[in-house]
Amino acid sequence: MKIVIVGAGPAGVSAAETIRAYDNEAEIVMLSAEPYLPYSPPAMADHFIHGSDVHLWRGEDWPQQTDVHYRKGVEVTRIEPDEHLLQFKDGETIKYDRLVIATGSRLYAPVKGAEMPGVHNFKSLSAAEAIVEQVKRGEARTAVIVGAGFIGMEIALLLRELGVAVTQVEMLDQVMSTMLDKDTAAIALDLMLARGVNVQLNTKAETFVGNPAAVRRGNGKAKAVKLASGRELEGDILIAATGVKPNLDFLQDSGIDHKWGIRVDDHLRTSIPDIYAAGDVIEVPDLLTGEIYVHAIFPNAVEQGRVVGLNLAGFDVAYSGAERMNSLKHLGLPIMAVGLKQGNEILQTRRNGGLRTIYLQENRVVGFQLVGNIRAAGILRTLMIQKQDAGALKSHLLEENFGQGMLVWQAIAPYA
Ligand SMILES: Cc1cc2nc3c(=O)[nH]c(=O)nc-3n(C[C@H](O)[C@H](O)[C@H](O)COP(=O)(O)OP(=O)(O)OC[C@H]3O[C@@H](n4cnc5c(N)ncnc54)[C@H](O)[C@@H]3O)c2cc1C
Repeated sequence: MKIVIVGAGPAGVSAAETIRAYDNEAEIVMLSAEPYLPYSPPAMADHFIHGSDVHLWRGEDWPQQTDVHYRKGVEVTRIEPDEHLLQFKDGETIKYDRLVIATGSRLYAPVKGAEMPGVHNFKSLSAAEAIVEQVKRGEARTAVIVGAGFIGMEIALLLRELGVAVTQVEMLDQVMSTMLDKDTAAIALDLMLARGVNVQLNTKAETFVGNPAAVRRGNGKAKAVKLASGRELEGDILIAATGVKPNLDFLQDSGIDHKWGIRVDDHLRTSIPDIYAAGDVIEVPDLLTGEIYVHAIFPNAVEQGRVVGLNLAGFDVAYSGAERMNSLKHLGLPIMAVGLKQGNEILQTRRNGGLRTIYLQENRVVGFQLVGNIRAAGILRTLMIQKQDAGALKSHLLEENFGQGMLVWQAIAPYA
C-alpha cells in the first residue's frame, strides 16, 4: 500500500512513525513544501539563539531510519480523489492508495497591506531565516511586531537576543490572550518589558504602509505600521504575528469538506474515503468542552498524527479530543497554561514571584495557570483530563509541594 503524507511537521512525522512502527510493508512518501528535513517550530528560537540544530529534532537520517521516501521542496497544489492523484506546483503528478493531509497552518493577517513585500512572519523555518538573515546582515536594527500572541512573543524575544530594538503592538488589553488569563499575562508582560521589548497594549495596527510612489508603481515595500490612532511606527523589519490559519489552498474542487479547517470524523478521516488529516489543518472537538475548532498546538498535532497512523496501520482508534496547553520557555520564569481560564471557583496563590491559579467547575479542575513552580502541572492535568472530582483535594491544590512525592499519593489515593 502506498501512503502519501503531505506536510512534514509534527503531525505528518507522528503519522509516519506510527505507521512504520506497525507496518514494515507500506510504502510511505512524505512531501514537504519547505527545503528542509522535518523540524520542530517550537525549537526555532533556540536554534537561532543557541545554535542548536533545529533539524536534530528527528535527526538527519530520519527518512532512512523510518524508511520514508522524503521529498523536500515539493508543494502540492491539487488533489483529485477520484483518481487518487496529487499534483505538484511544477506539474508533476503522483498516485496514492491512502493520503494524509498534514499541511499545518500559515500566517493569518487581517491587517491591510500584510501581503506587501517587507512584511515578515515567524511561522515557518523559511520565514524565520529570512528575518534572521536580515538581522545578521546588519540591515535590521529596529523591528515592529504586530500581535503579542505566543508566536509574536517568541520572535520578539529572539530579536532582543540578537540586539534588535523591538516595538510590539497588541490591540487587546493583555498579551497572549488566547492562552493566558489576565493575572498570568500581567506577569508575562512585565517579563517582556524587562527584556526590553516595548510592548504597547490597546494599540491597533490598521495597515502596513510603504513608500506611496513605489506602491503606485506596484513594487512597494512596507516601511511602517500605521495605527488606528493615525500614528506610524517605522521599523527596519516589520513582522505580522496576528494568528494562523490552515493551509487549504490545494483543496479546491477536491470535494473534501472544510470550513476554517478540514472537517474530520472521530477517526480523523476526511469526507473522502482513503484521505485522513491531522494537525493544525483540522477542526476537532475540544476534550473538555466538545466545541469544534482548530487548536494549533504541538501536542495535539502529534497525538492526531498518532491516531491517523494507527488507523492506517489497521487499528480502530478514535480521537478523544484536543487539549489546550502551552508553555513559555524563554521568559526567564517558566509559565504553563492548560485548559480553560474560567470556572465557578478560582483558587489562587502568589509565592516567590510566581503564581498558581486553578479553575474549577463543580469541583472538577478545568484549567490552571502556573508561573515559576510548574511541578504541579502533571497531576493537575491528570485530574483535569480524567474529570476527577477534586473536592476532597481542594485544600491541597495550592500547596507549594502539591504534585510531588508522598503528598500526591496520599492526595490521589482515593481516586487511584
Ligand atoms: C514559532 C513557533 C513556536 C511555537 N511554539 C509552540 C509551543 O511552545 N508549544 C506548542 O504546543 N506549539 C507551539 N507552536 C505550534 C506548533 O508548532 C504547531 O501546532 C505544530 O507545528 C503543528 O504541526 P503540523 O504538523 O500540523 O503543521 P506544521 O508544523 O505547520 O507543518 C506543516 C508542514 O506542511 C508543509 N506544507 C504546507 N502546505 C503544503 C503543500 N501544499 N504541499 C507540501 N507541503 C506543505 C509546510 O511547509 C510545513 O512544513 C509553535 C509554532 C511556531 C511557529
